[in-house]
Amino acid sequence: MKIALQNPMFLPTTKEELNKLGCKKLDVIIISGDTYIDSSYSGAAVIGKVLLDAGYKVGIIAQPDFKSDKDIKRLGEPELFWGVTSGCVDSMVANFTASKKRRRQDDFTPGGTNNKRPERAVIIYSNLIRQYFKNTKPIVLGGIEASLRRIAHYDYWEDKIRRSILFDAKADILVYGMGEKATLEIAQQLKDGKPFDDIRGICYISKSTKEGYINLPSFHQVVEDKKKFTEMFHTFYRNNDTVTAKGLCQQHGDRYLIQNPPAHNLTQKEIDKIYNLDYERSVHPFYKKDGKVRAMDTIQFSLTTHRGCYGECNFCAISVHQGTAITSRSEESIIREAENIVHDPEFKGYIQDVGGPTANMYSTNCDKMLIHGKCVKKDCIFPTTCKNLNNNHRPQIELLRKLRKIEGVKKMFVASGIRYDMIIDDKEFGDEYLHELIEHHVSGQLKIAPEHTEDKVLGLMRKQGTRYLTEFKKRFDRINAKKKKEQFLTYYLIAAHPGCDIEDEIRMKQFVSKELRTNPEQVQIFTPTPSTYSTLMYYTEMNPWTGEKLFVEKNIGGKEKQKRIVTSKSRL
Ligand code: SF4
Repeated sequence: MKIALQNPMFLPTTKEELNKLGCKKLDVIIISGDTYIDSSYSGAAVIGKVLLDAGYKVGIIAQPDFKSDKDIKRLGEPELFWGVTSGCVDSMVANFTASKKRRRQDDFTPGGTNNKRPERAVIIYSNLIRQYFKNTKPIVLGGIEASLRRIAHYDYWEDKIRRSILFDAKADILVYGMGEKATLEIAQQLKDGKPFDDIRGICYISKSTKEGYINLPSFHQVVEDKKKFTEMFHTFYRNNDTVTAKGLCQQHGDRYLIQNPPAHNLTQKEIDKIYNLDYERSVHPFYKKDGKVRAMDTIQFSLTTHRGCYGECNFCAISVHQGTAITSRSEESIIREAENIVHDPEFKGYIQDVGGPTANMYSTNCDKMLIHGKCVKKDCIFPTTCKNLNNNHRPQIELLRKLRKIEGVKKMFVASGIRYDMIIDDKEFGDEYLHELIEHHVSGQLKIAPEHTEDKVLGLMRKQGTRYLTEFKKRFDRINAKKKKEQFLTYYLIAAHPGCDIEDEIRMKQFVSKELRTNPEQVQIFTPTPSTYSTLMYYTEMNPWTGEKLFVEKNIGGKEKQKRIVTSKSRL
């Protein structure tokens, strides 16, 4: 095993590794709710490697025992700060289903049993640090759980509005969104003994508001009044744009949460550098001995092509977390990574995914968004694709062709979601892209996500109507028939989204039976995860833009019934 303090390999996770390296003290210790996978798909590993690359000594403690000091103390105390993350998923989502049943399986835990990640992991780990290290170095929160719970938010599992997680975790700084830039700046400021309160992309607690920042309705007000909560969410959402966002303040009792404007988007050079750092693409041996980590099946030999999503589906938090602007890696950077992958002794010739949040947004963008910020009153691909968007599949086609030529690559899949409306709206290269997918990158079935089929529900989801879906199916079937391939589409659908009732599910069932000729299996009950518009609707039972009352199925039995209607074996 190779361990790194200066060279890119596994970051140390045990005392023995530190001793071998002759290291007395680390600069940064990262605590994660996932096991330690040294991969660009793990936020903890990426942040660790970025800090390492900048010359800091970094260690990781993954899934520490939170009932004793045996893990949390094993690397000592850091010189600069602790980094705390729940892992790739919010710990409540990782631990519970939409029906609030405990999940038995955890794909980021060795052995796969869900017994290592505490509920509200960020709070638990921060408390664990405070319990065993009095007056310790700053605690810096990051990752999706911290990011999406950074201001007052609705928590589905407690069915109430909770404070910013910074207060509950008693931490010092919260890094939100994509954390590389902010984390490097924090490390530098702390090293130089300078203040951190002007760093973009962070939140912190203050005794007063900040000049020039927008005051959100207070925590107390949003708990008392759903209209105030809606007003708060609109302002929060609008001030997430890297170009136009203002700083925000929110009073919590006698203190204020301060949210600085988001970090600037990474440039292509910067994102290339991050993904071309050396990753082991493996689970650290200290954890690997405890069993198979299922997530490795999908991430070990996959390629991230870009970050960001301008789709802004109302049930999804990716636009809030990664931003709406697309930051694409260069072709050279992706090819270089693929060439490294083929030399990995465990690689068998299959690249499991080439994609990002939405695979076919690679290399697309809108100049207006990059210069002036995302439009407030207009959506990029809803209800149709905006004319200003550079919706061009040519760069993806070329990338896939070049990757296929790499010796040692037998097959490469595009398993990340695709927006089929964008394929149809790209009159020049859309069809060619679809041909490429069908010919080379689909393994018998292509998964797409219409999510629903009723216009009323689709509008609330900010998803396009069925016109695109039926047209896409027609094209997909036609091309497959021409190529004499037996491949089919599978559909991700959501049941019990706010605004959806039994009648809507019956009509959806009729549509999928008649038009799509299928009995869908991939139907998920809507989960109100923190900080999405759909969660806002779920909590307030109101359309946030019109103020109209919305039907929301809140009873778990009722939600399951909605799902059963769509998944039932009989076709309506
Ligand atoms: S001009 Fe169109 S593509 Fe650009 S940000 Fe506005 S809605 Fe999106």
